[in-house]
Amino acid sequence: MNEKKFTKLGISEALEKGLNDMNIVVPTAIQQEVIPAILKGTDVIARSETGSGKTFAYLLPLFEKIDVALKKTQVIILTPTHELAAQVQKQIELLSKFSNMEIKSALIIGSASMTRQIEKLKQKPHIVVGSAGRILDLIQKRKISAHTVQTIVLDEGDRLLDELNINAVKAVIKTTLKQRQLVVLSATITAKTIEESKNIMKCDAVEIAIQNSIMPNSISHNYILSEKRQKFIILRKIIAGEKPTKAIVFLNNKENIAVIVDKLCYHGLKADGIYGTAYKTERQNALENFRQGNINILVSSDIGARGLDIEGVTHIINMDMPEDPTYYLHRAGRTGRQDIQGKVISIVTPYEKRWLQKYQKTWHITFEQKEMSFGKLSDSSAVKKQYQSKKQYPKKKIKTTKYNHNKQNKKNSKKNHYNNNEK
Ligand code: AMP
Repeated sequence: MNEKKFTKLGISEALEKGLNDMNIVVPTAIQQEVIPAILKGTDVIARSETGSGKTFAYLLPLFEKIDVALKKTQVIILTPTHELAAQVQKQIELLSKFSNMEIKSALIIGSASMTRQIEKLKQKPHIVVGSAGRILDLIQKRKISAHTVQTIVLDEGDRLLDELNINAVKAVIKTTLKQRQLVVLSATITAKTIEESKNIMKCDAVEIAIQNSIMPNSISHNYILSEKRQKFIILRKIIAGEKPTKAIVFLNNKENIAVIVDKLCYHGLKADGIYGTAYKTERQNALENFRQGNINILVSSDIGARGLDIEGVTHIINMDMPEDPTYYLHRAGRTGRQDIQGKVISIVTPYEKRWLQKYQKTWHITFEQKEMSFGKLSDSSAVKKQYQSKKQYPKKKIKTTKYNHNKQNKKNSKKNHYNNNEK
């Protein structure tokens, strides 16, 4: 029978039964390492690839450690985005329901009604999950009693410890007692994250359980060369040819999301967008519609790339390329989850192509050059051969590889590329 069981890691039979009812039977690699460490009470820094069961790796031992009878907040989980917080909250509710453990949690994020959050906090939830800013605010208003907190989790820890968030995160940590446990998890953990974590962790009890961060093998990496102004046309061709069940289209610049969504909808496609500045309900609606399959194309900035677990994403399409390889990993990691095949198609200008080498080196992956030919995503070399055998390979196409990016950049800086009139 199955050797790898949750009970062997120190999880109770009741919780394991709940997991089994959720079709979760074998602990993943990260769960095998992190669960015993958290149960022991040590501070943990853990790195694990996206979609590897990171959330349950910390929720399961925390469910074991929480004293349900004690009506006090015992755990704070911080996340860099509201979407991830809402997703963790859902997982808590699900686990609580399936295990009959009656663990209560409150979602505390900015841009939601504080009055309602204060009402919820009066019920003394065992877990508070949300954003550092709002949680700190409510601690200072004495609506969350930080001194009863025994564990703080930083989910997507590298983002939480970056320049933008570190002050609020540290301030939340400082309000808790010194002996509390600190758990930092992320798909990518930089040397700086480790350094910052160690600064705030107990110096004698730090346990670093780092796994090799690798891109899941279930993801294929493809790119299509394109001039910037042709990118939207290529995007439409990809969608028409690949017919994705669920595709996330990534842009670097959130200002362009609405334009792309409008254009896709204009062409009769079922698309919506999520981006930082949109109203919370709009973001939630877009996400929920995507989850439910009411729309099959979600346009997003990098905020959508972190930690979100949406089932059945078949395609990731990068309209812009992130310069930082970790962003490529996080974007790609929205597909190919739990070993289901996923495809990343990046539409790159010859200038952006240089970054592919950087991703290749960092994540040990191989990119394949493709073209949309006769409505199909085909190997670029095969398309060339086909044309050559018919002696009709269009010279114009070869020219695109000699594309002068300096000239193009100058032109590009003068106008907004997504405002082209391709409609
Ligand atoms: P995460 O990496 O936390 O985003 O988890 C990705 C998905 O894996 C979630 O949908 C979980 O429900 C699922 N999951 C977590 N642990 C396991 C497991 N041990 N076996 C199978 N699925 C799991």
